[in-house]
Amino acid sequence: MKLCAANKSQLGVPNVKLIGNMHGNEPVGREMIINMIQYLIDGYRGGDEEIVGLVSTTKVHLMPSLNPDGYRMAVEGYCTRGPGRDNGRGKDLNRDFPTRLDWNNSDEQPETSAVRRWMSSVQFVLSASLHSGALVVSYPFDAPTEHHCLEDMGECLVAGSWRATTESITGDDDVFRHLATLYSNNNPRIPLGCGQHEKFNNGIINGALWYPTTGSMQDYNYLFHGCLELTLQISCCKYPFAHMLEAIWHENHRALIKLMGEVQRGVKGVVREKASGRSLAGARVSLEGTNRATTNTTPIGEYWKILLPGKYSLKVSMHRMILAVLLIVCSSSPIDVFK
Ligand SMILES: [Zn+2]
Repeated sequence: MKLCAANKSQLGVPNVKLIGNMHGNEPVGREMIINMIQYLIDGYRGGDEEIVGLVSTTKVHLMPSLNPDGYRMAVEGYCTRGPGRDNGRGKDLNRDFPTRLDWNNSDEQPETSAVRRWMSSVQFVLSASLHSGALVVSYPFDAPTEHHCLEDMGECLVAGSWRATTESITGDDDVFRHLATLYSNNNPRIPLGCGQHEKFNNGIINGALWYPTTGSMQDYNYLFHGCLELTLQISCCKYPFAHMLEAIWHENHRALIKLMGEVQRGVKGVVREKASGRSLAGARVSLEGTNRATTNTTPIGEYWKILLPGKYSLKVSMHRMILAVLLIVCSSSPIDVFK
């Protein structure tokens, strides 16, 4: 489902997505996203300022269930384990995505392929995958750093057999921490955690520091598309009874709206050829002097990059030729750069 009230011809409207139920026995996200669809429609029609602002400026894509086969096998009330985590072929979808070291998986699952095709056709800027079984917001990388992998390749590639003692951070770590903290701060339960053994600092954690895995969806989003995806663990019980869902909705709906609104932070613009005014598709937009994820312009030349306040040097290149370098100052509100 896609919701957007912006004019179709309007340039620079970013795409954000929420995906639920990747693990079939964690259907809390599925219910939150189904409810979010109605909530956004009602809020827009009722003139809710925040919701009108969101859907007038953003394309909101909502996928309640990535794993309907697993969901069919899952059992209500099973809080820790139980059937349905994997897809119908017995594969964990959150270990199935291409990685830095293994980008061509011959056994790729159809659900994974569908998400990858979707991501190739829509340039997503910000994303969240909703899970349950813990209370924490995790952010990339889930995979141990390349350095660690090279040191001990065998162990590194076997998910769960390697315990990280250090974070595996991206070039956009400041932004990920900001987004994760924003979600945690707007959710009354996440900072409290689920118990003594699972208390996280401010309710957030780097994926690899929590437990390293390879082939996760959030790592794929970042590595292959420059899309910032968070993994939201929003209920201690994986599959709580239905009567508990309303409370979980009230703990999360505001945080979800706030998170989606962050897609407007940073810089966005359109790359055009100076002489002809023609939009340039596929130009590479990067931040000089950093290892932040780069982004390519859309077929009509648009780009977006979420950044925290500060000074940046924005570089636009194509076929290894530098087309422009702009010094920009980001404040807490978004800026537009048209070139
Ligand atoms: Zn999960």
